[in-house]
Order: sequence, then C-alpha cells, then structure tokens
Amino acid sequence: MYIRRMETPKNPLSLNYRIREGLSRLAMAMRVDEWERAKAIGLNPTQLAILTLLEGRKGGLGVKEIAAHLGVSQPTATDSINALGKKGHVEKRAGQGDRRSIGVHLTPAGLAALRHDTEGQLAEQAIGSLDDGEQQQLLITLVKMIRHLQEKDAIPVQRMCVTCRYFAPFVHADEERPHHCHFVNASFGQRELRVDCRDHELADPSSRAATWETFETG
Ligand code: SF4
Repeated sequence: MYIRRMETPKNPLSLNYRIREGLSRLAMAMRVDEWERAKAIGLNPTQLAILTLLEGRKGGLGVKEIAAHLGVSQPTATDSINALGKKGHVEKRAGQGDRRSIGVHLTPAGLAALRHDTEGQLAEQAIGSLDDGEQQQLLITLVKMIRHLQEKDAIPVQRMCVTCRYFAPFVHADEERPHHCHFVNASFGQRELRVDCRDHELADPSSRAATWETFETG
C-alpha cells in the first residue's frame, strides 16, 4: 500500500528560534519604552540605564563595571557618565580603601530623575495582560535564563535571590511563602523572587550550586 509521506519544510524553524524571535519583539517594545522614559527626563537610553544601574549601589560602580553591565564599550560608558555628570545626575568619588579607584555615584538629582513616572509603558501593559500564574512562571523562567548567562560569565553578576548568600529556598511548609531571606529574616513566595536586590550578597560558587539545585527541584 502506498503511504503518502508527510511533507517536511526544508528549513524547519525550531522552537528555540521562535522563542528568540518572540523575545526580540518584546525587546523592541522595551526599547521604545526606554526611549520614551529617557526622553521625558532629557536623557538618552544609555544614560537612563546608567542611573538605573547605580540606584541602590551605595559603593557606586567603576566605569569598567558600568560598561560590562550595559554591554557597551568603556569609551561609550565614559561619554554617557560625563554627560550625566554635567547634568548633576552622577558624581565621581575616590574609593575609600583605594584612593586611586574612582567610583561613579548617583546624586539626589539623579535619583529624582529616576523617580519620574512615565505613563503607558508597553512592556508593563503586555506583562499585565498575563494572569498571576503566568506572570509568576515567566519570572521563574527569566531567573533561570539570567542565571544561566551569569554562570557562563556571559553577563556580570546580577543581584538575584538565587545567587544570594541570604537565600534559603523551600525551607518553609507554607506553599505561598516557601523561601526564606536571612537578610530580613522573613519568608517569601515565588512571585517575590528578586532580580535586582540592593541587599544581595553573592554566595560562594559551591553554595550557589547547592541553592540552585534545591530551588530547581523544589
Ligand atoms: S537579600 Fe535580597 S537577594 Fe538576598 S535573599 Fe534577601 S531578598 Fe533575595
């Protein structure tokens, strides 16, 4: 008997490829948001990203670290920092231990600019279209992907719970609040996992691996 074979496309698009296509569309909307928000306070997106990065970093950051976090060259970061300095949004200070090291710090004017609220953020609306469970699952998925990139040294250390020495995953029986933060000594739930916590302290590699295994297996 003749069996008609199913036709297969010559160039099948993998799920991985289509997810990346989807993420790039979201990134596009986020770039539009960033332009709008930056424009509203008289900055460009790189300058806004620097202010955002410096918020909550009491010790400031060096130019090299800023460039690495933003994925830009050091001269580009330097130009943006100088422009922010002229506007009074950041200032350079000598390090307390090493006077030769210079840290870039957010000023009160920079913090005020950052607090400026912009209406109608596209990405916020898109995330808001997901229900609670979908938002929580998306957060966990993002944490997993960011952690992967971090462990591969593809991006700088992100201040996430899953890499923090204060994080104890799944230590409470309460399904709504199974995790514990030893910094504030309180339990919390999956949807409260932090991606950029100012109190974060990086755990050592073996603790990070053990914490991640417990977190993943739940
Ligand atoms: S200090 Fe911040 S990053 Fe660390 S476990 Fe607590 S909430 Fe998470």
